Amino acid sequence: MIDLHTHTNCSDGTDSPAQLVNKAIAEGLTVLALTDHDTTSGWESAQKTLRGDLSLALGAEISCLTNDGISVHMLGLLFDGAHSQMQEMLENTRDGRIPRALKIIELLNAGGIKISIEDVESVKPAGATLGRPHIADALVKNGVVSSRDEAFTDLLHNNSPYYVAHLAPTPEDAISMIRSAGGVAVIAHPFASLRGKVLSAADFLPLKIAGLNGIEVNHRDHSNDERSALADIARELDLVITGASDYHGTGKLNSLGENHTHQGQWERLESEADKRRVIRA
Ligand code: AMP
Ligand code: ZN
Ligand code: FE
Ligand code: FE
Repeated sequence: MIDLHTHTNCSDGTDSPAQLVNKAIAEGLTVLALTDHDTTSGWESAQKTLRGDLSLALGAEISCLTNDGISVHMLGLLFDGAHSQMQEMLENTRDGRIPRALKIIELLNAGGIKISIEDVESVKPAGATLGRPHIADALVKNGVVSSRDEAFTDLLHNNSPYYVAHLAPTPEDAISMIRSAGGVAVIAHPFASLRGKVLSAADFLPLKIAGLNGIEVNHRDHSNDERSALADIARELDLVITGASDYHGTGKLNSLGENHTHQGQWERLESEADKRRVIRA
């Protein structure tokens, strides 16, 4: 079983990288991709924990914003973690998440909801990429809501009056950066319309031209119709089709391996990186 999209407590997941690798081994996964939001800080620990037959594809889920203000998530897999411009891009995004959280908190406060940046810092693991799930955890701690999910449904979703975007590269810029760092780019859950405004079918050709390698088709936030529309786009543009869990530990219902990528699609994706970068024990 090949799962190409997972999170740890280096961003907004709840398992440590070591716990995630152990879980993937226990569940018999053959390939696990580590894709924390805008960071590669979990790579080293995941690699140290690796053993047995599991292969590790190191990566990141890069937050992007189109010129029209649509939020897009780009999975970068198998890129060189020492690529300095890539690390600079990720760092800029992480930095931009701080003023953005402050704005969200200010809006919540203006709406009469009690929460401070200190509350958020106290629930966020040290060094983790700051995200709305940490604001959600602080709201749970303050008794405003009872779960992350309720926090998103009631207050933190993309169409909420409390929503604020953060600084991020365009999808084309993220793709170019991933490719120049030797990796492959797969657009994550592109038709997950519950999350807010999404791309339309015509938007994929410019991404293909920018170097996009694949589309995450099988994801729990896509309906069957959305999956078949995306598979059609992938076939038309000759892009790899992936499936993945977007596992976040106990932070979300998604279970490891609940969606997966077919071996042939994975082999093609891996062959499009500039060299063999998959890690084996
Ligand atoms: P951010 O990166 O700060 O924009 O926050 C987006 C993250 O929130 C994504 O990684 C989602 O997995 C997570 N998220 C979105 N909706 C929910 C939800 N209903 N419950 C838990 N996490 C969610
Ligand atoms: Zn997340
Ligand atoms: Fe995502
Ligand atoms: Fe994700």
